[in-house]
Amino acid sequence: MSRTTGQHTKTQEFIAKELTYSAHNYHPLPVVLERGEGVYLWDVEGNRYYDFLSGYSAVNQGHCHPKIIAALVDQAQKLTLTSRAFHSDLLGEYAQYITGYFGYEKVLPMNSGVEAVETALKIARRWGYDKKGIPANMAKIITVEGNFHGRTLNVVSFSTDPSSRDGFGPFMPGYEIIPYNDLDALAAALNDPNVAGFLVEPIQGEAGVYVPDDGYLAAAYALCRKADVLFIGDEIQTGLARTGRMLACDHEGVRPDILILGKALSGGTMPISAVLADDAVMLCIRPGEHGSTFGGNPLACKVAIAALEVLKEENLAAHADELGAYFRERLLALRHPNIKQVRGKGLLNAIVIDHPNPDAAWELCLALKTNGLLAKPTHGDKIRFAPPLVITREQLDECIELIKISLAAIA
Ligand code: PLP
Repeated sequence: MSRTTGQHTKTQEFIAKELTYSAHNYHPLPVVLERGEGVYLWDVEGNRYYDFLSGYSAVNQGHCHPKIIAALVDQAQKLTLTSRAFHSDLLGEYAQYITGYFGYEKVLPMNSGVEAVETALKIARRWGYDKKGIPANMAKIITVEGNFHGRTLNVVSFSTDPSSRDGFGPFMPGYEIIPYNDLDALAAALNDPNVAGFLVEPIQGEAGVYVPDDGYLAAAYALCRKADVLFIGDEIQTGLARTGRMLACDHEGVRPDILILGKALSGGTMPISAVLADDAVMLCIRPGEHGSTFGGNPLACKVAIAALEVLKEENLAAHADELGAYFRERLLALRHPNIKQVRGKGLLNAIVIDHPNPDAAWELCLALKTNGLLAKPTHGDKIRFAPPLVITREQLDECIELIKISLAAIA
């Protein structure tokens, strides 16, 4: 569909081909993209859009960041994969760089986010047996309602979202699900001596940017410390400058015992994830007990170093902090009757739509698309606004105008 004319065009052909040959496991907005640069995306009709999803926060550094692409291209012409059967000249350099960057003793490199979550859970269980003395096969991990940590069978075993779980059982045992943002529930669950870890997102991104009360993370961390339980921070979506700090846990001075990163670790160029921990935890895993053909490949090492450098060189955490506060203030100032809530931290934000039409959020996203801004509803009535962190104040002002105009379409 052309943005300007509403005519059916080659967009339809691309969509038809995708629907014919690709599994129907997503419900995308009807736009076909072919190019990206910074905060912008272009569709196959030549229309330009502001990207307000950033590949679910994988493109914090902006689309096709020149420094990251240069690293990618340069290394792709030299060496891409050795497997971990051999050493590469880049894994040590990358491991030194990322552990120094976040202040941990070790990193375990993986690819997709959910693989890193699986890795963290395996490490926590093994630590529970080897170090905490939990009896064999009794280790328990505490998770929270509304979580999103990925789509593997193990990870959906502790999801509370029916669309993630229904029809996929039987599920993996060993998880206890407690309410999010509930310290009493956490304290009670931690009474079980077989608990090895507490897995938590500092802000629940997929749930619709649900921000816990101030102090929740710090108090949860303290409870875990007292109970000798590992605090496992899933910062796949919230980390890497997105919320106005390098890590969302930094807002409360919390240093997770196990830190999980993904998404923007490659600036959106390839799947790169990582698990960080200190030796006492990480070295519970020994050779042959965990791995991945592609994890820690030379291409990923080179790209991740560049992606992390960009975050610091361009001061993106401070920028996200400042522009995020401005964005929420401007949205709140609209006092729009169809916006029930504006929430978020840094440039990870969402609005909650209040409208008698249950499809209003989807329709607003269609109107936003028509006006040149791409965003996607989550859980029906919420729309996440998470542009690349390189967005300027002038561009953000323009986007606020686009949001204002689009809201009229659902009024
Ligand atoms: N954890 C969190 C907090 C996420 O937001 C996501 C993806 O959105 C994942 C894990 C899964 O990452 P991936 O889709 O790369 O497997």
